[in-house]
Amino acid sequence: MVVSFANRVKLLKTAANQEILKFTQQPEVISFAVGMPAAEMFPIEELKHISNKVLEEAGNQALQYSTSEGFEPLRELVATRMNNKFKTNIRFKNIMITNGGQQALDFCAKLFINDGDTILCESPTYLAAINAFMPYCPNFVEVPTDDYGMIIEKLEEIIQITSNIKFIYIVPDFQNPTGRTWSLERRRQLMAIINKYEIHVIEDNPYGELRFEGDALPSLKSFDTKGLVIFISSFSKTFCPGLRIGWIAAEDIYFEKFVIIKQGADLHTSTINQMLIAKYMEMYDFDANLEKIINVYKRRRDVMINAIKVNFKKDIKFTYPQGGLFIWVELPYHIKAVELLERCLKDNVAFIPGDTFFPNSQVKNTLRLNFSNMSEEKIREGIWRIGKVLNEF
Ligand code: PMP
Repeated sequence: MVVSFANRVKLLKTAANQEILKFTQQPEVISFAVGMPAAEMFPIEELKHISNKVLEEAGNQALQYSTSEGFEPLRELVATRMNNKFKTNIRFKNIMITNGGQQALDFCAKLFINDGDTILCESPTYLAAINAFMPYCPNFVEVPTDDYGMIIEKLEEIIQITSNIKFIYIVPDFQNPTGRTWSLERRRQLMAIINKYEIHVIEDNPYGELRFEGDALPSLKSFDTKGLVIFISSFSKTFCPGLRIGWIAAEDIYFEKFVIIKQGADLHTSTINQMLIAKYMEMYDFDANLEKIINVYKRRRDVMINAIKVNFKKDIKFTYPQGGLFIWVELPYHIKAVELLERCLKDNVAFIPGDTFFPNSQVKNTLRLNFSNMSEEKIREGIWRIGKVLNEF
């Protein structure tokens, strides 16, 4: 049977992550491939206790339909937390709870993109954002990026020669895939540019609270005087991803539209899951739990960086993230990460080749390593194995 799919389906990139995930689920494989949190850190006992409590105290409400905007006590908790951590000044009425940050990305695409519109993004950028935007048929323009964020002169040049720019998509803190963080200076410069040209920014910030060292930097949203920044984050990395609780913070004119889009998509986010997080925040110390996660990831980052220094040759460059989940590696030009992966899989070690994180560019010699999901011992062993294969190339 020939199935007549919509044209937009042709535009979807294969989620290499998902394919590799299947392979890496085998216990003998050391995987630095997917960006998974450390499951051993999930507060399972506390959640068992809370689940009982929520069902006993408000079972009828927890299992019932609820509003598209989200569970109000959670929206209030999110607004307060966001204002503290990201230095914003958002009211809870402008927070909508979404099914992970990923749903918020899809909603931004639905809200803004017409066929042929242009989206600017960092080069490289988050793969699943490309896939969230792609079905709406935009053109991607990659803005050259260095260790401090987008190169602002290049950004301005691109803005001046590009029509129909709908938004700039940015992951400013501990970016997926590079682990890089925008400097304060670049944040200020970016906001001056977007205010001058009145362009929207989608600030996707799921990693900002996972800082291992150094001072926290204010979010892009905190500099937003014209209501141009739409802020997205989630509890996936600071708590647990299986609950699928994220949020979107936007000014009224966008917010009203997001609510209608949410109604069309799934009516509302799981009531009980929203209540579980709100109850956890009421009964336990969310920040103490986050601190534990941060300590484990920091150690894993250190172990991975040290192992890279010992096992990779000096002509291999890598980022040194101050938080988050990822290290980005740049190989000598002649080594193709896809070929390296093929060989590494034979030694039961995996990573994601960087190619898919570039919507347009053909960059073959980069790769992303995740350090949150493997024990320190496996990190040492896995990096040693990759180093051994690299020496053969
Ligand atoms: N944005 C970025 C940059 C991410 O890395 C992720 C998760 N990998 C998401 C959004 C979506 O995460 P979630 O839907 O679990 O909140």
